[in-house]
Order: sequence, then structure tokens, then C-alpha cells
Amino acid sequence: MASAPTVPTPVRSEEDLNPFRIAMRQFDKAAEKLGLDQGLREILRRPHRAFIFTLPVKMDNGSIQVFEAYRVQHNSSRGPCKGGIRYHPNVSLDEVKALASWMTWKCATVNIPFGGGKGGIICDPKGLSMNELERLTRRYAYELGTFVGPDKDIPAPDVYTDAQVMAWIMDTYSMTHGGTSAPGVVTGKPIFLGGSLGRNEATARGCFFTIRAAAQLRGIQLTSARAAIQGFGNAGSICAELLAGAGVKVVAVSDSHGGIFNAAGLNISELTEHKRKSGSVRGFPGTENISSAAVLEAECDILVPAALENQITLENAARVKATIVAEAANGPTTPGADEILHKKGITVIPDILANAGGVTVSYFEWVQDLQELFWDEDDVNRRLEKVMVRSFSDVYLMTQKYQVDMRVGAYILAIDRVATATRTRGIWP
Ligand code: NAD
Repeated sequence: MASAPTVPTPVRSEEDLNPFRIAMRQFDKAAEKLGLDQGLREILRRPHRAFIFTLPVKMDNGSIQVFEAYRVQHNSSRGPCKGGIRYHPNVSLDEVKALASWMTWKCATVNIPFGGGKGGIICDPKGLSMNELERLTRRYAYELGTFVGPDKDIPAPDVYTDAQVMAWIMDTYSMTHGGTSAPGVVTGKPIFLGGSLGRNEATARGCFFTIRAAAQLRGIQLTSARAAIQGFGNAGSICAELLAGAGVKVVAVSDSHGGIFNAAGLNISELTEHKRKSGSVRGFPGTENISSAAVLEAECDILVPAALENQITLENAARVKATIVAEAANGPTTPGADEILHKKGITVIPDILANAGGVTVSYFEWVQDLQELFWDEDDVNRRLEKVMVRSFSDVYLMTQKYQVDMRVGAYILAIDRVATATRTRGIWP
């Protein structure tokens, strides 16, 4: 039977920064190279379902504030949906749809048995008290209700959500499902509530393993390399620490307040302490203030965007000086910028590979919760390294086979795996 025609991706004169349309363009490019049939393309490029919630919250001053929230389940052919929850003023449904689809491709790239999901609440978490944050989170968890669960959809932390937020979600889910404890409903929990050792560092550690592999391919010695990192949160700060530990000179970093630079390299543990005390990397002794955008253009060998989407664009891609760009963030490079970086001979380790260490150890956490048997940290890190090294090599083989860059190579690998699962399960009814 003939399938519906593919909805053409809109082409605009100026660069289109809509994350979901970007995600669809990335998908289309790889699906074309793979020769995927039209029907499967139609299924896989869209989310299976998307929920929109209105969350009323009693504020500390007695007023009521109403928040809009989302959960998108992109695909579950290979296993339960998996993906973080973001609290940010710029969250939108299209952003969550893009992030959910990237989760599907990410889980398939590293071959773990999950599909893709993502959630978000439009809010400014820095302006909320802990009590307000807890009420907002619990209301959201209540609304997620039966749509999530250890065998359906398993949330995790993302930008401005953490282990405490996961603990509230786990507790709300458990209380509304018969009062039992259900640690497998979320990952990224505190260790004493069924979290996994190594999960907090996993995204950065996985990213580090891919940087090490790319450096080897490009003939770069880590001990004489320089790095610049945009974003100094969970992914960025720990990646900085791991790179510095391997002998890399981290010369520039930034956070939402701006960037800092020191050509001689930054002492990352002192910088982390400075950020913990002052709330920003700015003002770190011995550094020059630069903008967050300037960090992306710093003279360096390794650039790690670890903040938000659409940071490397048509506007600044030509000025990127690094040899390796490792996408710790999701969606930091636009398709237009991707082409420029490729032409410049820059190796871009795509987000669906570079930051997949987080979801990989989330998978380990879920496995440990279901088994009620916990591994030591060395065990977790060893297993993570194996997955990341193997996945980097799987993606590299695709780039050779199809003569494409690493993003298209990773998508081809992932789409083929999800398409095979979907085709084999069949279309119901
Ligand atoms: P986080 O909240 O811990 O940190 C975000 C950091 O980005 C903060 O330091 C913030 O100040 C900074 N930031 C915000 N706007 C900025 C700007 N304009 N310029 C520079 N810095 C800015 O979040 P995180 O968990 O580290 O996530 C960062 C990125 O990594 C996101 O794209 C996220 O989706 C991705 N990611 C995270 C994980 C994870 O396990 N944490 C896993 C996969 C992908």
C-alpha cells in the first residue's frame, strides 16, 4: 500500500533555528543515504505522542502561578522511552520534540534497549524557592501519572534539574501507585535512593572517551592539546575536570553569566570551587573576561559546547578554530554550521554519540534498580568505557562505508537499528 508523501522540511532564506525542524533535517539526510523506505521514514521522523500539561502551583506568597509543561514520547520500538526533564524559560514543545527524537537516535547509536522521550517545564527555576520547586515537580509527576513507569517511559535530569528533582518524582510516582517504592521510574536519583555510582559524571566521562578516540584519529596528543568549554554545569564542568586530568590545557570556559580565558590554562578544581561559592565562573582570579560566544571561537584543539542548542550557527561556524568539536550539549550545531565545519576539516563528534554516556549509565542505573543489586564505581566506569569505545568505532565504520561525516554516520547506524526493530515488530493492527 502507498504511504503518505513526506512532509517537506521548510527551507527559509535565513537559518531556521527551530530545533524540531533541525532534527527532521538531520533525520532526512541520513534516511536518504540509508535508502530507508518512505513508510518507515514517516513513522520515525515524528514523535509517537506528545502531552501538554497545565500545572497550577501555590507560591510561597499565597498567589497561584500556572506553568505549561510537556512530555514527548518519540519512539519505543527498542524499549521504554528514556529522556531528561528540562526546567528553563525557553522550553517549547518543538524543543522537547527535538530532544525526544535525539534520545531515540542516541539510545540506538550506543545500542541500549531504550527509545526516546523528553520533558520540560517553562519556568525560571532560579527564581523559585525549594518549596515552590517541589510543588511544581510533584504536580508535574502527578500529571505524568500512568504515562511513565519503569517499563514505559523513564525520565532523568537535564538542564536545571537534578537528583533532588528526581527523588520528588520517584516519591510522587510511588505514592500514587500503591505506596510502593519504584526507583526504576526515574534515573539520576541520589545514590541512597537507588541511584548509580558514576551517573553524575557519566555524560562528561562518555564525552571524554569519544574525545580521546577522536584525538587519536586526528593525531592529537592530549598532553599538548588546548580545550575550550561552553557551559560549566554537570556536563561541562566535569568534562573540563577529566580533560585537565588527562593533561589537556583548558584555556576558556563559560556559563550563563559569560566566559573567562587564560592562555596558560585554568585550574579546574579551583574554578569549580570558585563557581560553587560565587555562582559563576566569572571573576576567577588570573583570567580575562570574554563573552560566552567568544569561547566558541577560542584558539584551541578541542571545543566542547556543553550548554544549549543553536550555539554554532551559520554566523560563527567559520570562526571556530578547534580541530575537534565534541557536542556534550544536545543540538549545539545547526545544519548550516555543520556543513561549514565539515568543509573546514573539523571532526564533529555528534551529540547522539558524544553525550550518550549519560543515558548509558542511566540504563545501568535502571538495570541495577530492577535487579536490586548495585555495582561499584569502577565496574560502572569500565562498562561505560566499553560502550563508548565500541560505539565510536561503530559510527566511524559507517562514516567510511557511506563516505559521510560522523553525524550522518551515527544517524545511519541508529536509524537502521530502530527501523529494523519497527519493521520486525510490524505495524499494529
Ligand atoms: P546544567 O544545568 O548542569 O548546566 C548548564 C550550564 O550551561 C550551566 O553552567 C549554565 O550556566 C550554562 N549556560 C546556560 N546558558 C548559557 C549560555 N548562553 N552560555 C554559556 N553557558 C550557558 O545542565 P547539563 O546537564 O550540564 O546540560 C548541558 C547540556 O548537556 C544540555 O544540552 C543537556 O541537554 C546536555 N546533556 C546533559 C546530560 C546530563 O546527563 N546532564 C546528558 C546528555 C546531554
